[in-house]
Amino acid sequence: FAKQRGKQRVEQYDLAYDRWLRRRTELEHELRGAVDRGELMLVYQPVAHLPDGRVAGVETLLRWHHPRLGTVPPDEFIPLAEDAGLIHGLGEFVLHEACHQLSRWIADGHEVYLAVNVSVRELHDPEYARQVAEVLRRHRVPPERLVIEVTEHAVAQDVQQLVDRLTALRAAGVRVALDDFGSGYSSLGQLRTLPVDILKIDKTLIESPRPSAVRFAPPLADVVVQLGNRLGLDVVAEGITEAAQRRILEEAGCPYAQGDLFGRPMPAERVEALFRADPLPPYEPGSDADDGS
Ligand code: C2E
Ligand code: MG
Ligand code: MG
Ligand code: MG
Repeated sequence: FAKQRGKQRVEQYDLAYDRWLRRRTELEHELRGAVDRGELMLVYQPVAHLPDGRVAGVETLLRWHHPRLGTVPPDEFIPLAEDAGLIHGLGEFVLHEACHQLSRWIADGHEVYLAVNVSVRELHDPEYARQVAEVLRRHRVPPERLVIEVTEHAVAQDVQQLVDRLTALRAAGVRVALDDFGSGYSSLGQLRTLPVDILKIDKTLIESPRPSAVRFAPPLADVVVQLGNRLGLDVVAEGITEAAQRRILEEAGCPYAQGDLFGRPMPAERVEALFRADPLPPYEPGSDADDGS
């Protein structure tokens, strides 16, 4: 009987694996032509400067809308692009489009910065920083307006190579952000030695922990904010959805925040409208006005 059930499980596993493999193969095939067919587009999420509630910058996020498969999330197609050797093409597309957009915002007098996510695979290329500098030149964008975001998970790989690449980017005048901090396994020692300018606190440290975990895991964002501030980094909290979270972070001395509370990722024209507006009134200590209560 047990053997029978074991066999059933193996068959179920085979079926699930088969489905997974078929979807992957199809996505990979479709992704190859996605740029040329115009299925990829960029959306921008505002990053708020908490003391005055204004938009300090935007993060560029890639979207893939396929006519038959629908919208495929980046968490699904980016890893696939990395494995299939397509990430360089995607990265190039994103960098060009984003810098083009940024050059228009600069021409319109907007003082925002623009952040672009880069995959570790792209950083394997020793020429990466030179290519970024070239794109910036072509679009006449001052390097300090660009931020390159690299996920903390990159630290698990060749740290020396990562340090070299980030150093080259900074030498070109570009700022570097360590993304998803607190979701991976980089050590405090590594944080001290990595050549980064900005620390982005992962949303898992912002969210309230599951009820079962409360005793062991209070939100740690305030501690990480202090850590970042102490190291002289610009701290950005990710995944802010509630005014209460904003207040806690602001009280902890967090200068920047990003999340649905300030605006979801949106097309360029919509985020532009936020540049001159005040997205949220400044928080006044001792007032609960931001709670919506
Ligand atoms: P990320 O760089 O950490 O980007 C932040 C993610 O959090 C985005 O997901 C964003 O939509 C989401 N987010 C923002 N505010 C909130 C919030 O208040 N609550 C919640 N629950 N989520 C929020 P998205 O756009 O699905 O992107 C996922 C990941 O895919 C990104 O994480 C990044 O690692 C990767 N990615 C996206 N675009 C690119 C790209 O152009 N190149 C590369 N290499 N990776 C990209
Ligand atoms: Mg990012
Ligand atoms: Mg992140
Ligand atoms: Mg990420």
